[in-house]
Amino acid sequence: MTPDIPWESPAPEAADAPQLNAAGLSKAQLAEHLKTLGEPSFRATQVFEGLYKHRWTHWEAFTNLPKTLRERLHVDVALAWPDITESLASEDGSTKHAFRLADGQLVEGVHMPYAGRTTLCLSSQVGCAMGCTFCATGQMGIVRNLTAAEIVGQVMAMLLAHQHPEGVPINLVFMGMGEPMHNLAHVMAAFALLTDAGGLAIPPRRITVSTCGLVSGIEKLAAFPKRPRLALSLNGTTNEYRSRIMPVNRVWNLEALAKTLMAFPLEHNERITLEYVLLKGVTDSLEDARRLSTFARKFPSKVNLIPFNAHEGAGFEEPGEARIQEFCKFLIDRDITVSVRRSRGQDVAGACGQLVREGRKQQEA
Ligand code: SF4
Repeated sequence: MTPDIPWESPAPEAADAPQLNAAGLSKAQLAEHLKTLGEPSFRATQVFEGLYKHRWTHWEAFTNLPKTLRERLHVDVALAWPDITESLASEDGSTKHAFRLADGQLVEGVHMPYAGRTTLCLSSQVGCAMGCTFCATGQMGIVRNLTAAEIVGQVMAMLLAHQHPEGVPINLVFMGMGEPMHNLAHVMAAFALLTDAGGLAIPPRRITVSTCGLVSGIEKLAAFPKRPRLALSLNGTTNEYRSRIMPVNRVWNLEALAKTLMAFPLEHNERITLEYVLLKGVTDSLEDARRLSTFARKFPSKVNLIPFNAHEGAGFEEPGEARIQEFCKFLIDRDITVSVRRSRGQDVAGACGQLVREGRKQQEA
């Protein structure tokens, strides 16, 4: 039976904020407002540069604008990135942040510094409609979509909080709360802002959206001339099991997914990442590895094995190290590109979505 999940219809939007906020607006939106103040369109480029290149956080700092305009903007237009309400630093160097949005909703993101680069994990929705049984966010249900500004806001808030040094490459992964394909319009509007050469100029190949397998969204993404890289949260190698843990599989099963991914227009050397969570005694058999290798060979791909990160009430166990290595070797022996991704921040808040869930529980108590 098809579950009662709004696969196609967009989740509710954020209510309009009482005051215009420049943080996260597109250049066209900035130009539109500046026009109402009698300003020429090039002022939008100057504001955009101030926001993203210089990362100025108050209007007085915008020395590229005339003083009178700065004063006018100070009165008329807010400049507010999402507030970080809680940050938990892990021993491995990553920091999980909870962001409070203008309407009080919470989402979370993770800052992960590596040698020579920084990876930021972003949320695309408040909650998620997809209902994956292993996921803390999935248990919250969907509250609403994030706007493009709120998505970009997570990036800027983390770059500012960590005083990200200029020139250090930034990777973005949509692997936080929400299903990005269920909010594709806003995710792609954020993508346009984040890759804009006049701002952060993050190369598209450094941005990855991860989907649970929402085929209708993958097909829409395929039609964009410029788009982020694609990752699929696979996690199961049989329809019987995958449908049990990921309700989306009851609508688009493994065969439908493979067909869509085989038709996905990849660039030279581009591959689709297959994320596969190893659950002890559930998804870590060598028979699973064999089926996974068959699936992965159907299109250019690489496999990320993610040993399960146990959290309260999950009902699953972490696989042992020996089994992880055995599973990995099985794939390598079949010429599959594979890496083992240790979920960072395990000591601070477990899986994505847990920080916010814990925060909500405290608020409700
Ligand atoms: S794993 Fe992703 S798609 Fe599934 S419920 Fe969690 S956030 Fe949603």
